[in-house]
Amino acid sequence: MYCNYCGKVIQDDASHCAYCGKRIGGIVSRKRLVRPRSGRKIAGVCLGVAEYFDLDVTLVRVVWLIVALLPPTIGLLAYLIAWIVMPEEPEPVSAPLAERAPNV
Ligand SMILES: [Zn+2]
Repeated sequence: MYCNYCGKVIQDDASHCAYCGKRIGGIVSRKRLVRPRSGRKIAGVCLGVAEYFDLDVTLVRVVWLIVALLPPTIGLLAYLIAWIVMPEEPEPVSAPLAERAPNV
C-alpha cells in the first residue's frame, strides 16, 4: 500500500510510514479501548486507558488511585464500571483449534 502523506510504498501491515513517520489510516489498526492481558496490575483498566490515550501508565494509575481514594470515591466506581465494560484484549493467535490435522 501507499502512504497517504508522502506517497511512498510501505508494508501492508505497517502502522506507521517508514519514510515520514505518519500513522497510517485509522482503518488499518484502529485503537480500541481494551484491557491488555500482559502488564496489568489488577484488571488492566489503567493500562488499557494509558495505551488508548498514549499516556504513561504510571501516571494513569497514580491519578486514578488518588481519585479512587478521595471521597466520594468516584474513581473506585469508575474502575469497577470500566472493568465490566472494557473488553479484554483478544487472545494471541497461536494454534487455532480448527486447523488441527484430523486424526487418521
Ligand atoms: Zn509517509
